[in-house]
Amino acid sequence: MSDLVTQAAPAALPGHPFLAYRNESLHLEDVTLSKLIREHGTPLFVYSKAAMLSALAAYQRGFAGRRAQICYAMKANSSLGVLQVFAQAGCGFDIVSGGELDRVLAAGGDAQKIIFSGVGKTRAEMQHALAAGIGCFNVESEGELDALSSVAVAMNLLAPVSIRVNPNVDPKTHPYISTGLKDNKFGVAHEDALRVYQHAASLKGLKVIGIDCHIGSQITDATPYLDAMDRILDLVVSIEAAGIPLEHIDFGGGLGINYNHDTPPAADALWQQLLTKLDARGFGAKKLMIEPGRSLVGNAGVCLTEVLYLKFGEQKNFCIIDAAMNDLPRPALYQAFHAIVPVALPGIGATGATEATYDVVGPVCESGDWIGHERALSVAAGDHLAVLSAGAYCMSMASNYNTRNRAAEILVDGCKSHLIRRRETVQEQMQQERLVDS
Ligand SMILES: *Cc1c(COP(=O)(O)O)cnc(C)c1O
Repeated sequence: MSDLVTQAAPAALPGHPFLAYRNESLHLEDVTLSKLIREHGTPLFVYSKAAMLSALAAYQRGFAGRRAQICYAMKANSSLGVLQVFAQAGCGFDIVSGGELDRVLAAGGDAQKIIFSGVGKTRAEMQHALAAGIGCFNVESEGELDALSSVAVAMNLLAPVSIRVNPNVDPKTHPYISTGLKDNKFGVAHEDALRVYQHAASLKGLKVIGIDCHIGSQITDATPYLDAMDRILDLVVSIEAAGIPLEHIDFGGGLGINYNHDTPPAADALWQQLLTKLDARGFGAKKLMIEPGRSLVGNAGVCLTEVLYLKFGEQKNFCIIDAAMNDLPRPALYQAFHAIVPVALPGIGATGATEATYDVVGPVCESGDWIGHERALSVAAGDHLAVLSAGAYCMSMASNYNTRNRAAEILVDGCKSHLIRRRETVQEQMQQERLVDS
């Protein structure tokens, strides 16, 4: 070995292996985030391709040697440049609208690997998806079965279907993101499932090929998955005993990520446990499908923002930033937590920074427009912050509330960065609108 002094490996942020400070400056992979801010402004979403592929690889390791298909639940982040990463990696897609179907096709995804979920598919969406030749419709009600069959018959096609069953297990997550409980709008009840399958099998336009469930989101414990698997396998036994063979079982998505000292199981470890159960119950040879969203993209992205003003009060201090609830809606929607860290560590020569506890808030005229409560930060106006875990359910839920332009997006790949969405303009926002002639 040489006697050169080697620099210590930069410390990655916990739970964010591709995000690290080097020379006190935050990097995503090998790209300096402050450089992206100079080039593209703020608010700015930046995603790491390596982080997405590494999250995908954990599932792929978990399924090694199995017949399995991973369908990225694209509502988590439906930007074309993100879809392209997963399409090129061989992923399928879980879609919930005809618009999402168009996005997959535009990003080069394979129609046969698409599954179409959601409680309210329209007949037009069914036609569109049948014409595209998607792999499976995950049907959520008897009315939808009848509608889909009649649409398929009219097109002289057979619609491949799976029925979403509600296993009635509690994923112990936020009530707005739990979907597998009895009083939920999703899926058909466990006790009705056999009858609904028999009805599906009797319809001329349908080909029953699978069963699916999806019990919730940001699940950080293996137990609800194990319980749901038992409930679903019980049904597979009775459905097949009734003479309806099932080609695949789809266990949905929902695996959580680390936002704030959360400790979800790793995807490969979770699937090791689940596959042990599957094998023990004699279903190890069945084709498996999953629909992960958040766990593939959530921790691959950050939202970069500028501190506009600091405001000090008797009760509270406010750090007002240029990103808001229209860019980062999760805190307002679910009281969700995002870690917030500086883009540059206060280094030698840093002046004017005030260390204090702040509520980090955006410019939108709503008290719900907060991004973080009671955060200890050392900041000055003009500094930049990175809101972490912003890859999932941020840009895909972004709005134009307060006529704010939606942010730009960058995909980082090693030392390269690609603009995958240009910042919107107000002209574009107003394009569809018309004044009334007087
Ligand atoms: C939202 C959703 C998913 C993905 O959930 P994540 O928590 O992002 O993994 C998967 N399947 C269905 C049916 C969904 O609605």
